[in-house]
Amino acid sequence: MTILVCDKDGTMTTTASGARFVDSPTDQTPLLGMQQAIVNFGPELLLCASNQGGVAASYKSIGSAIMEFEFLFQLYPELDAACFCPDYAGKLCYVLKSAPDADFSPQIKIYDGDSYRKPGPGMLKLIQSWYRNDLLYVGDRPEDEQAASAANIPYLHINAFIKEYS
Ligand SMILES: [Mg+2]
Repeated sequence: MTILVCDKDGTMTTTASGARFVDSPTDQTPLLGMQQAIVNFGPELLLCASNQGGVAASYKSIGSAIMEFEFLFQLYPELDAACFCPDYAGKLCYVLKSAPDADFSPQIKIYDGDSYRKPGPGMLKLIQSWYRNDLLYVGDRPEDEQAASAANIPYLHINAFIKEYS
């Protein structure tokens, strides 16, 4: 069984408002076809790994980013955990909800080698450190593919994923 790891913006969700960037935590709606594609894929676990450069750019607070993920957990009740990197340097990784190595909410990991900010492989390597299962990463941007490649994890673009599992 495979653990499915997804990028958030443009992969699991799009903005409800139609704006380019999420303008409030609830300005999110599931990307068309993604919920069904996840069901059809049938992952053993579902995780999210997301850059949140909007925090570094001061478009949103860290609290607002956390609320954004809490709303994501409502949109995707089967989502087991989410990681996000809020800083440009890629030194911080917030981990929300359950993961097997700890009880936490949120847990903050400090950089220990690979940048957490995609295209750095740090977030995906952190997830790899929790599980022995096969992983698949799904995203929508070149940095998603680059991060997966650097972490040696198979990658599918969101369009290919939805096409294959719709
Ligand atoms: Mg994206």
